[in-house]
Amino acid sequence: MKGYYEPRSSSSCAACKFLKRRCIPNCIFAPYFRSDECKKFAKVHKVFGASNVSKILVEVPEEQREDTVNSLAYEAEARLRDPVYGCIGAIALLQRKMVELQHDLAIAKDRLARYATAAATATTTPSNSTSHDAFFNGHDFHGR
Ligand SMILES: [Zn+2]
Repeated sequence: MKGYYEPRSSSSCAACKFLKRRCIPNCIFAPYFRSDECKKFAKVHKVFGASNVSKILVEVPEEQREDTVNSLAYEAEARLRDPVYGCIGAIALLQRKMVELQHDLAIAKDRLARYATAAATATTTPSNSTSHDAFFNGHDFHGR
C-alpha cells in the first residue's frame, strides 16, 4: 500500500482530500495528515475547523507541529466522546485520583513511621517474646 514516503505523490493529504481541494507541494497539513489519515483530520476539523488548525500550525515552530497536531487530535477525540467536558473530564478524574492516592500515601507513611518506631523500641529493649519463647520451648506443655 502507501506505507512508504512519497515526496512527489500525486495523492492528496487527508486534509485536502477531505476538503476536496488540490494538495499543493508545501501544503501545511500534508506532513501531519497522511492520505490514509482521513478520520484523524475529520475529527480535528469538526472540533477546531481546518482554518483554525492551519493558523495554529503556522504560529508554531516546524519542529513542534507534529506534537501540536497530536494534541489537537487527542483533544478533538476527547471532545467528540464527551461534548460537555472533553479533555477536562479526564484531567478532573486524574486529579481526583491523585488526591486520593496522596491521602493513601500519607496514611501508609504514617503507619510505616509507627512500625519503624515500634521496631526500634523492640530492638533497644530486651525482647520479652524471645525469653518467653525460650521458656515455652524448654517446657513441653502439650504433653500434659
Ligand atoms: Zn494537503
